[in-house]
Amino acid sequence: MGMSGFKTRLTAWMQGRYGTDELNSMMFWIAVALWLMGLLFNFGAFAVLSSALLVVVLWRTFSRDVGRRSSENERYQQAVAEPRRNASQALARFRNRKTTLYFRCEGCKAWLSVPRGKGSLRVVCPNCKKETFKKS
Ligand SMILES: [Zn+2]
Repeated sequence: MGMSGFKTRLTAWMQGRYGTDELNSMMFWIAVALWLMGLLFNFGAFAVLSSALLVVVLWRTFSRDVGRRSSENERYQQAVAEPRRNASQALARFRNRKTTLYFRCEGCKAWLSVPRGKGSLRVVCPNCKKETFKKS
């Protein structure tokens, strides 16, 4: 059996099975991290957890219940959407900290920003319309 024969058989075997997704790859990387930490701190429980996660990843990959697996992935994506957005906004605030002054609206706690070094600026929150004066 050549490589192409193997590929054909693998494709046939994977037919109707779920395959991989974002949830699986996240769990895979957590498993890798746990395994490395287990090695680093000589902590065997991490290796057990890591293997358990890998079993779940494999089980989901080869599962035939495609509908249920994709709804798990959807719930995962919904759960991480907001923290992910917050993290990328925090990163942007950090990156632009020298050129932009970020602060929270006193009315609704929304993030507002003004360019730095422009003196005292009047800022109207687009969310709650509260007016603030900010020394940039
Ligand atoms: Zn506001």
